[in-house]
Amino acid sequence: MSTRFWCETAWVDGEVATGVLLTADDTGTLTSVETGIDTPPTIAEVVPGFTLPGGVNAHSHAFHRILRGRTHGDGGTFWTWREVMYSVAATLSPENYETVARAVFAEMLAGGYTSVGEFHYVHHAPDGTPYGLGTDAESGRPRGDVSAHDEPRTHAMERALARAAASAGLRIRLLDTCYLTGGIDTDLSEEQARFGDGSIDGYMDRHAGLSKAFATEFPVNAPGESFVHVGSAIHSIRAVPAANLPRFAELEGPVHVHLSEQPTENDVCQAAYGTTPTQVLDRSGVVASNLSAVHATHLSDDDIATLGGAEANIVMCPCTEADLADGIGPARELADAGATISIGSDQHVVLDALRETQGMEAGERLRSGQRGRFSPAELITSLTKGGARSLDLPVGELAVGKACDFIAVRTDSIRTFGSVGEQIILSATSADVTMTVSGAQVRVRDGVHTELGEISELYRAAFAALGMED
Ligand SMILES: [Zn+2]
Repeated sequence: MSTRFWCETAWVDGEVATGVLLTADDTGTLTSVETGIDTPPTIAEVVPGFTLPGGVNAHSHAFHRILRGRTHGDGGTFWTWREVMYSVAATLSPENYETVARAVFAEMLAGGYTSVGEFHYVHHAPDGTPYGLGTDAESGRPRGDVSAHDEPRTHAMERALARAAASAGLRIRLLDTCYLTGGIDTDLSEEQARFGDGSIDGYMDRHAGLSKAFATEFPVNAPGESFVHVGSAIHSIRAVPAANLPRFAELEGPVHVHLSEQPTENDVCQAAYGTTPTQVLDRSGVVASNLSAVHATHLSDDDIATLGGAEANIVMCPCTEADLADGIGPARELADAGATISIGSDQHVVLDALRETQGMEAGERLRSGQRGRFSPAELITSLTKGGARSLDLPVGELAVGKACDFIAVRTDSIRTFGSVGEQIILSATSADVTMTVSGAQVRVRDGVHTELGEISELYRAAFAALGMED
């Protein structure tokens, strides 16, 4: 059985088309995209406004959302913010994280995203014990296990995130993150214990086990019906020794890394290795077209040439970068050098695909004194196809063979009224997203999740699960 949507206007093949009829098969994969159909067929759901391919959020840490609106009281720096973030990380369990992530992923859908790259490093119990490994002799309970679930308990945190995404209808690339050291030549601190795998071999073994387990539990079939995918990540040059980095060149699929977000990171890298984080990665053979450098804020001209020359991906997270006082990265220069730009919401100071994308152009204008650094079409491409490339997902375009993932944006709201064609990417916000569809199913309509209900109620449950009711 097929599902049809008739869109008043839509972004197809890099331009605005009218009367667009989308047909998806029963796997939620597009089988036809027709333009210029003036009258909606009776069997099609009418989608008013402007339809865009679903936004791809190429960089997320779901639990950071808990900090929104709670860290502005005392000023501080990225590093003091990180201390507060660690205090939330310490409270996470597989059960409460599933509840938290379900709310965050539902908000993400309402905010205009249909896919996410979840950069995940809270792997183990707070003391660093892997979930699901044997029984504690004293208590008789499973070690590192606080669950009554009788399903497999290994990879419990990863399974929680995958289930949360699948239940919300958000496509996820779970970027299984390697986090071995607290700083260059520094052991993990107590609060970082649950991020670590002991050694690069420990990481590679766990990562292989996770990939195998998920291949069985969440098989990747037709594009539209495959919601859970696995990738890998190097937390940062601070958290993985340079000697271990070549191992990531052996891995298939997307590899992500936090890169030069803060000047301090560059300084410690220079002191330890005598060069920049980008050049350390390049020497290790991991700067390639499957690499995504997240932030890439403080780069040298050589760094820009290296990332561009390798046709690497860059994930700009402008709202987080502003919130954490990181700085403004050289997105235009990176794009001109050959890199593909994508968009991420990182710590979710906002979950709004439109505002996040506008933030990149705003930063460019502020630092250059010029308008139109990225054209509206380029901004849409960054949010959609750019992210799809970064995460290697069959999304990002309204095209045959891609997943039927899209958002509809109001063209008649107080924000968008009068916007011309694709310039709406610079005027709309998530408040204008009336419909979010993934796998040809409507997931969010007018801000309410079609299966999970009011998203604010999901947050009420999430904060309660963390013991943060007030
Ligand atoms: Zn991040």
